[in-house]
Amino acid sequence: MRPTLVAEVRFAEWTRDGHVRQASFHAMRTDKPAKEIRRETRRSGAVDSSKEMPSMQKSSALPVKITHGERVMDTHSGVTKLELAEYYDAVSHWMLPHLADRPVAVLRAPEGIGGEMFFQKHAAKTITGVHMLDPALDPDHEPLMQIDDTRGLVGAVQMGSVELHTWNARSDLIERPDRVIFDLDPGKGVTFAQIVEGAQLIRGLLEELGLKAFVKTSGGKGLHVVTPLARRHEWDFAKGFAEAVAKHMAHVFPDRFTATMGPKHRVGKCFIDYLRNYRGATTVCAYSARAREGMAVSMPVHWEELSDLPGADAWTVRNALDRLTALKEDPWADYIKASQQRVTKTMLDRLGR
Ligand code: ATP
Ligand code: MN
Repeated sequence: MRPTLVAEVRFAEWTRDGHVRQASFHAMRTDKPAKEIRRETRRSGAVDSSKEMPSMQKSSALPVKITHGERVMDTHSGVTKLELAEYYDAVSHWMLPHLADRPVAVLRAPEGIGGEMFFQKHAAKTITGVHMLDPALDPDHEPLMQIDDTRGLVGAVQMGSVELHTWNARSDLIERPDRVIFDLDPGKGVTFAQIVEGAQLIRGLLEELGLKAFVKTSGGKGLHVVTPLARRHEWDFAKGFAEAVAKHMAHVFPDRFTATMGPKHRVGKCFIDYLRNYRGATTVCAYSARAREGMAVSMPVHWEELSDLPGADAWTVRNALDRLTALKEDPWADYIKASQQRVTKTMLDRLGR
């Protein structure tokens, strides 16, 4: 290949083997002939590099020291442990509102996602920055964990965590869930576009009932539709509501949806998993990375964006921050406003319960 086009990119640093790390596209440079381009070296002290390279500034200021930062967590993308820590550090002010105050489970992949992974719901021993909750919240176990700040988030990465999964309740009122989650999974042969339509239909039903809903990519194959609730309902009631919604959708659109577990039921359909709503169930947290090839992240989106989305793995630890920086408004900006929603008996009656 012969270089002809010139693009300006921003990046964190050169890797030892001469690649740019965390590169993001800025603009085409039609004003510069490709022939003139040479590899630039940084003049130390000559410029305030922190202005040009915000991610460099952060990497030097991680709140927890990362050991084995060069360990490749995903051979597919080449994302390293340090890069993952930097991602969580940089995304923390977006993520913490969804993470803080809730019991959290972590998916740890100490040797990277090709190695052994384990899902940890309880703290066997202390993790830097991660809080241990009152053991009474989950008797007969080690304490539940909670991450309330960037230190805890980066501390979890230092311990090999890749994914963070949260409860549907906050620890200070753990018997009252503050949201219901519908997990939409594609059955065999189902396209992402069908999952998008499915999410839009569920949203339609919830709006019809008077409830606002929010949507995020799972970072895997599907979408998560989230309905905030006032902390007034018991777990069984919230779970019953989720089940009623899922079964209603499967009843009204039998060709599109199933609410029945098991792969054979979902062939060609969107499976609405309402079982993420019992006490102790977890779902991957907004902005969490996934321990899967490519290291996509679970990304909150505007409902209007959904039909243009190529897939549930559209954003990764590499490009998520570019999206967030470019956003004019948090796609879930109205979430707090919806946090006093209640499920009424009328709603359940309308769902045919
Ligand atoms: P996709 O869109 O690909 O379905 P997802 O996040 O919706 O992604 P999974 O990754 O299959 O789906 O999520 C599994 C569910 O089980 C989540 O609720 C998660 O919190 C939980 N979970 C994951 N691993 C374990 C485990 N080892 N033990 C118990 N629960 C787990
Ligand atoms: Mn899913």
